[in-house]
Amino acid sequence: EDIRVYEFAEALNRPISDIIKVLFDLGMMMTKNDFLGNDEIEILSEEFDVEVTIIDPKDEFTHNEEDIEEDPDATERAPVITIMGHVDHGKTSLLDAIREAKVTDGEAGGITQHIGAYTIEQNGKAITFIDTPGHAAFSHMRQRGTAITDIIVIVVAADDGVKPQTLEVIKLAKESGVPVIVALNKMDKETAQPDMVKGQMAEHGMNPVDWGGDIEFIPVSAKSGMGIDDLLENILITADVLELKANENALAKAVVVESSLEKGRGPVATVIVQNGTLKVGDYVVCGASYGRIKALVNEHGKQIKFLLPSHTAVVAGLNEVPASGEIMMTMSSDKEAKEYALKRHEYDRHKELSHSTKSTLEDMTSMIAEGKLKSLKVVLKTDVHGSLEAIRTSLNELRNDEVKINVISAGVGGITENDVELVSNSENCVLLGFNVRPTGSVKALAKQRNVDIRTYSIIYKLLDDITGMLTGMMAPKF
Ligand code: GDP
Repeated sequence: EDIRVYEFAEALNRPISDIIKVLFDLGMMMTKNDFLGNDEIEILSEEFDVEVTIIDPKDEFTHNEEDIEEDPDATERAPVITIMGHVDHGKTSLLDAIREAKVTDGEAGGITQHIGAYTIEQNGKAITFIDTPGHAAFSHMRQRGTAITDIIVIVVAADDGVKPQTLEVIKLAKESGVPVIVALNKMDKETAQPDMVKGQMAEHGMNPVDWGGDIEFIPVSAKSGMGIDDLLENILITADVLELKANENALAKAVVVESSLEKGRGPVATVIVQNGTLKVGDYVVCGASYGRIKALVNEHGKQIKFLLPSHTAVVAGLNEVPASGEIMMTMSSDKEAKEYALKRHEYDRHKELSHSTKSTLEDMTSMIAEGKLKSLKVVLKTDVHGSLEAIRTSLNELRNDEVKINVISAGVGGITENDVELVSNSENCVLLGFNVRPTGSVKALAKQRNVDIRTYSIIYKLLDDITGMLTGMMAPKF
């Protein structure tokens, strides 16, 4: 469950200001309606000495709607779209096709720079696309609890149908509550079977509108350009219903979608503005980095003076490279920006410390042996549904006098960054994969987070290991 600052205060029976102050001292500027991320909750619970169990580390990547909706000066803003789907289903091709088909009026040169996001115009209305396919970028933002995507376009190749990553995206979309439009891609192929795909999607709760459901399925071909207009029209219709708003006159708040260190320019970050207007000359803080905006360069390679809500540009002038997903905020002075950045440095150090004390599987085994551990949490991923159920049932039956197993999440599909996050955010938790393996980037994240990933291809080996742990056989006796 998402928890807001004021809800946390209520749960602790503490004044809201106490919570806000602790967060502020750690460099997190939050208001009572902001959602707490898992890291904040962890730190707050240490600070106030309470036990907090994170049941469902839900994502906070929607905008802070309440605050903006209550703002009488808020006006309509363009939607921000993320395209996701299974590998090779055409995410990159679709992003290219949209970019090529639609060039903002008056931009003769088209979109010349790949900066991580771009804005197009459809019938005089702007739409911004996050220009990095896959959900790595999305996950980074979730990890930081930032919210930038208004609508998810799920691409499914009509000749291939629903695949593991498609299911993952469906899960993500459901969890986050972000509205979905399905792009049925590769419709130019003779082997395209749109109805078969609709059936598969419907099985997973994505019911097509023409079957009486509420999800739009748009047939497209990234190759021929067929259906692109239709897709864009549907995005605008969906955005209309969402009544997306921002106040151009508010202090600017933007989200980093890409960043790098560039020769001659120093640290640069591509941002999408969430609220307010970002201007050249503004003092900003962005995570632990800060600075004064020296230049804003848009996707057409043009220097601009200011950036309106939902629009994107590369920002130069920061003292360090901020991570993607980080929030950039305008500050009233250089001094304020610097102070805030310093606090963030402290916060990050604190966070790192709390991560490095996370237990590894070996630690847990000895904790079991020493009788310190009462419940071992498990996140389980398998290749097929059958093995999932079999393993889950067996695990639930495993227990000894002191320890029981608690499967906190189980799913079919590859081991993802989200699984690692979940384990990393839970005490005494292990990540088990059956006939599935983590990719390189997932492994890297696991290493960074001190998360042990155990993979198996034989059920009894998996159960043996866990049984071994439970009986303390794998650990030296103390
Ligand atoms: P991604 O992994 O989802 O980004 O997929 P890509 O955009 O890289 O596309 C994977 C492959 O499918 C490439 O060889 C594309 O040329 C091809 N492809 C993408 N869209 C279409 C389409 O609409 N029709 C056909 N025939 N091929 C496509």
